[in-house]
Amino acid sequence: MTDEREIRWGLIQVFTGDGKGKTTAALGTALRAAALGKKCAIIYFDKGGESHYSERIILRNKVPEIEIYPTGLDRIDSTGKFRFGVTDEDRAEGKRGLQILKDLIAKEAYDLIVLDEINPSTHLGIIDEDSVLGMISERSSKTELILTGRNAPQSFLELADLVTEMGLKKHYFYQGVKAREGLDY
Ligand code: ATP
Ligand code: MG
Repeated sequence: MTDEREIRWGLIQVFTGDGKGKTTAALGTALRAAALGKKCAIIYFDKGGESHYSERIILRNKVPEIEIYPTGLDRIDSTGKFRFGVTDEDRAEGKRGLQILKDLIAKEAYDLIVLDEINPSTHLGIIDEDSVLGMISERSSKTELILTGRNAPQSFLELADLVTEMGLKKHYFYQGVKAREGLDY
């Protein structure tokens, strides 16, 4: 018989919506899990380019409980301009990210895996929705998953045990405040 007090890991959480806070909420959750000594991994999709993501430095240097796997090309050029659109190279990087997920799942060792920006990456066709669903279903029933990003596919929402939609009420970006290191990236 299952003890009612037993803490069950292995649920699926989705953080989506247009407001700020999806990736940072996932990072906060991973940090909380790491505090208990849980084994965590974050796979970043479509998020190459080391300089734009401050948290990676502290995770690598100080938080061995959280492994990080950046994939994707750098979407921001040296002048700070964002590149839109999807190329074959983006899709190749998406495949690489999914292969990493497959390898991590096969190890059956992770308590929490964050799939950062997997929602828009799937929505844009950088990665294949059915492949993601297949991998999710093959994971150990004890591995909690967090899927982040805008435009979460309907199939992810249906599979999820938790869906939080970050709503855009205000964002300083629209007052002309540019992304600030340490707060926005
Ligand atoms: P964060 O990484 O700050 O938690 P996020 O994951 O919710 O943000 P993304 O859609 O991944 O948001 O966007 C990444 C970047 O865009 C972040 O720098 C974030 O601050 C900023 N941002 C988030 N929402 C908005 C918005 N509605 N308008 C403009 N910029 C936004
Ligand atoms: Mg994000």
